[in-house]
Amino acid sequence: MISFLDLKKINAPYETAFQEKLKSVLYGGWYILGKEVKAFETSFAAYCGAKYCIGVGNGLDALTLIFKGYIQLGKLQKGDEVIVPTNTYIASILAIIQADLVPVLVEPRLETYNINPDLIQKNTTIKTKAILAVHLYGQLAEMDVINEIAKQNNLLVVEDAAQSHGAFFAENSKPKVENDNVQAYSFYPGKNLGALGDGGAIVTNDSDLAEVLFSLRNYGSETKYYNDFVGVNSRLDELQAAFLNVKLQNLDSENEQRRSIANRYLTEIKNEKIILPTVLSQGTKHSNHVFHLFVIRTGNRANLQAYLLEKGIQTMIHYPVPPHKQKAFPEWNILSFPITEKIHDEVLSLPISPVLTCEEVSFVIENINNY
Ligand SMILES: *Cc1c(COP(=O)(O)O)cnc(C)c1O
Repeated sequence: MISFLDLKKINAPYETAFQEKLKSVLYGGWYILGKEVKAFETSFAAYCGAKYCIGVGNGLDALTLIFKGYIQLGKLQKGDEVIVPTNTYIASILAIIQADLVPVLVEPRLETYNINPDLIQKNTTIKTKAILAVHLYGQLAEMDVINEIAKQNNLLVVEDAAQSHGAFFAENSKPKVENDNVQAYSFYPGKNLGALGDGGAIVTNDSDLAEVLFSLRNYGSETKYYNDFVGVNSRLDELQAAFLNVKLQNLDSENEQRRSIANRYLTEIKNEKIILPTVLSQGTKHSNHVFHLFVIRTGNRANLQAYLLEKGIQTMIHYPVPPHKQKAFPEWNILSFPITEKIHDEVLSLPISPVLTCEEVSFVIENINNY
């Protein structure tokens, strides 16, 4: 059986390094916001080409705290509208709501699954104050266009980078946080950079925002027992930071392995019933895509999924129900977003990970081509 994502196999090579880190944290005796968190914040900021990294408890908190930080700074106000893609993972939308802001759902492009910039402009009103761009499945949204729209309309740009660690536009030659943008990351175990538990981070060049966020994540306090803001407890765990310090060193090579598998899928899968994802060309090496997921579309998904399972290939659906059709949002259930609904009916994620072997990839391709 080819499992969709074999986390044990992904983490096994790090066993010795993890044990050393565990020992060092254990005997260091400092378990919250210690030197591992600090080291990770320094390394990950540098890796992302940004000045500041703030380690937090998870990806949802990273997003929520960004919005709360902007409210604290007076750059956003309760009730402001935030544009967000309709087909994102629920966390993007929950973050907006938890910060008392109003999500405005905007359809993606069918081909790339990422937000359609033409529709951002159409949905921008005087109440719109920010865009939450999501780099879904690991491919960067069309940030040059989005940044330009934001500039013209005086909007903040927040990036949900929970699926896109290490992606960059070819012209930069490495990751770089653009303009005053701020990025939210998740280190949930299944992400491209995954911990052995929950974790998250915010990355930005904005020193005012960073200062507020360092405080907000820690009870709104900079000096112990003195509280400047109504904060939360959402700190990146010291042990998780220690593990992430180990794994960050291999992120680029693991992304490269994902890309080479994706390249094989893109060139070798040949079946009329299968629609392959469109990768916007940003140089030949797909640096703008880190293939967190490889998501195809097909008319009769249940049939394809059952067929592959019978052949011993596990697949997943990201995601089966769009946010506006979730029970959690009854007021949205009557809304119609045809592109999003089509995506949710047709998508299927194929196995992709740094530990998938050449033979396994060939086996997946062969069986899809025979379908
Ligand atoms: C995983 C994910 C999140 C949330 O991350 P958690 O660490 O699970 O809270 C947010 N947005 C997207 C797009 C994600 O994939």
